[in-house]
Amino acid sequence: MPQAVPQLQKIELIQHPTAAETANIDALDGLIILLPATVSHKSRPAFPYSERLYRRLPEARSGKTCSPVYVELPNARGTGVALGFVEATASTFELLSLCRKLAARVLEHNPVAVGFMSPQLEGALAGRSAEAAVAALYAACFAPPRHKSEPADRCKLKTLTLYGLRHTLDFSRTLAAAEGNALARWLTMLPANRLTPATYRSQLAALAKREGWKFGFLDEKKLRARKAGAFLAVAQGSDSRDAGIAHLSYTPAKIAKDKRAVALVGKGICYDTGGVNLKSAKSMFGMHGDMQGSAVALGTLLALTRLRAPFRVDCWLAIARNQIGPGAYTQNDLVTASNGVSIEIVHTDAEGRMVLADTLAIATGEKPGLLLDYATLTGSCITALGTRYSGAFCNRAQLIRPVIEAGRASGERVWPFPVDADYDEALESTVADVKQCIIDSEADHILAARFLARFVDKAVAWVHVDLAAGEHKGGLAHVPTDVTGFGVRFSLNLLLEQELALT
Ligand SMILES: [Zn+2]
Repeated sequence: MPQAVPQLQKIELIQHPTAAETANIDALDGLIILLPATVSHKSRPAFPYSERLYRRLPEARSGKTCSPVYVELPNARGTGVALGFVEATASTFELLSLCRKLAARVLEHNPVAVGFMSPQLEGALAGRSAEAAVAALYAACFAPPRHKSEPADRCKLKTLTLYGLRHTLDFSRTLAAAEGNALARWLTMLPANRLTPATYRSQLAALAKREGWKFGFLDEKKLRARKAGAFLAVAQGSDSRDAGIAHLSYTPAKIAKDKRAVALVGKGICYDTGGVNLKSAKSMFGMHGDMQGSAVALGTLLALTRLRAPFRVDCWLAIARNQIGPGAYTQNDLVTASNGVSIEIVHTDAEGRMVLADTLAIATGEKPGLLLDYATLTGSCITALGTRYSGAFCNRAQLIRPVIEAGRASGERVWPFPVDADYDEALESTVADVKQCIIDSEADHILAARFLARFVDKAVAWVHVDLAAGEHKGGLAHVPTDVTGFGVRFSLNLLLEQELALT
């Protein structure tokens, strides 16, 4: 039996309209305080223990951003206070990153009761700071899969009290994103012998039952009937016949009139050896994470379900392994995808675009209003952006601005790349409709997007996300683990906040 998906840590969120008094702070194990970076020494706000904290700050820092400070208070609990400074112009990414660092300090002693306050932060900035603190604490309490014989120290955090907020804030989206992100990270961290296509399929069936989603699985036999030759070319290298396209769908009790269905597609390569064009040990290490795109699509589906999104969501996950074996596909093979496009194989390590080709063709066949796909697809996207941003590719110019804005507002930053048609010249084949890729990987992230475009109905608005930020050493934004589960917060903002022109 596969390991059951763990539930999100239950933390009671208490919103306290008034400022914290000494007795409140004395009842806390940990406290995060955010102060404006530019407040002069004299006008710093007074609150319980503030003098003690300020004594730890260098005097002549007014007008400059100070480094975070950690102090244990001289009260019975020895309340651990992490103090950080916020610029008035701080971006969501900056707030999340600061709160990740402060949360790590406060959680070092495994507290049960933690508080948050931001005296002197005004209006929207106060709300955004509180949101970042909540997101960071939830992200930090995530328990990764672990196989050590010694039990891990579970996060004991039970209550998070937010002091001095003038208005009650709605954290439902933050919590939904935290749950989706935790699911995505947990699945991505499972090694390939714990998450095979077969066990992944049973995990999905169990989740679908728990969440009330419709669940279907196009196995290899069904995919053969649909002539999905691109997907099957990859699957045939494996000695088990367990690959396929999972289809999970959420239908709201009431669909808003103007809302069209959203399709989420994810690359779910449970292990990527590179195939016959085998990767080196260094490049192959960690390749159990090559299914992160599918986990992010699933995490987004879960978050949208929690938020009772007023539109239908179809999630299509391309689940397979890219193995070597007697049946494995090879360079110069010719295969035909389910939409009739023939492909000349150039490099067997470009398997992601192969399984996605048929998955995108099948997903667009249902005519969604928007198609969003996620994949740890190309090294060249990482070369271009590093691992702090993910790349985006849109088939509508009107989508570019909302995609950038959703990245900025959510703190999961994405940046668009060009997708001009003349890039196709590189993919012209003398023997098939299109080349899978080119042997020199110049602009491979753009070529991959141009290749995938051959399988997306032009009538469907489409955003392809190349998850360069799926793994970032030391964590990224609010997430403290190397595996970031990047994309759930971004997607929620894009789908729920941005005005999308879907025609
Ligand atoms: Zn690969």
